[in-house]
Amino acid sequence: MIKPLAALALAAASLLALAGCAATPADQPAQDGRIPVVATTNVYGSIVAEIGGDRVHVTSIIDSLAKDPHEYEATARDRLAVRGAALVIENGGGYDPFMTDLLDGSKAEVITASDAHPGHDAEGFNEHVWFDPTTMITVVGEVQRALTTIDPEGRAQFAQGAAALTTALTTAGQDLAAIKAEARGADVFITEPVPGYLAAAAGLVDTAPEGFSSAVEEGHDVAPATLLAALKVIRDGGVTAVLANGQAAGSETQRVEQEAKAAGIPVVTFTEILPKDTTYAEWMHAAIASLAAAVGA
Ligand SMILES: [Zn+2]
Repeated sequence: MIKPLAALALAAASLLALAGCAATPADQPAQDGRIPVVATTNVYGSIVAEIGGDRVHVTSIIDSLAKDPHEYEATARDRLAVRGAALVIENGGGYDPFMTDLLDGSKAEVITASDAHPGHDAEGFNEHVWFDPTTMITVVGEVQRALTTIDPEGRAQFAQGAAALTTALTTAGQDLAAIKAEARGADVFITEPVPGYLAAAAGLVDTAPEGFSSAVEEGHDVAPATLLAALKVIRDGGVTAVLANGQAAGSETQRVEQEAKAAGIPVVTFTEILPKDTTYAEWMHAAIASLAAAVGA
């Protein structure tokens, strides 16, 4: 059901090899003549690199699975990178608030990914928008436009890179729709909001008790009654899979995961940061494939 993306990834990679010399705006420091870009995480860094190829020089502030973006504090080095950037891409929605301060006095073009989601002003908005293919297609278009404005000579390359990524995201959306058709609203237990958009697009129903995932996300203790209710949900059966955040596992999440394993329920983990040597498109495809496998779609 899930089509291999390898061919697409190869096509995107070969596009990256096509570039010539890039012009950099006169008031921006040159990075080997490439456009200096800063991304708050390597998820957005990968997106810009896939579109800009070797016409961009991307610095991703958070690029390690060992770092929790929600708790990141910017360094002097980050400040220096942002000062020299022609383009900055952030998640927004309260995810990476350190960027607001870093941008003070900056002339960089700024793309805020969560602004592309129609629900971004709503109460309780899930800010993990990179797992929402529709939102990310809009973001890809914004990156393409921004890079083309900064470096008009790169127009054709940026258009090709953006088209490859848009195709990958369109496929991701189709794969999620296929899970939705096959899994028919299966119950899942989501420990933390990070996979929320994937689960919603796949039509999966979250049965975690109210307050569980928000406490985990905010780094608070889950209330004892909520934890008991959570363990009961798992024990009662009916949960097809537990969807967890591989980067932020508190003791309550571990209890739920242990309970699920004991009950033979698959636990699928998702991360906020790209693993090394993986592109955003590959990562999305892998996340959706593991979701499909866990819910038997
Ligand atoms: Zn998160």
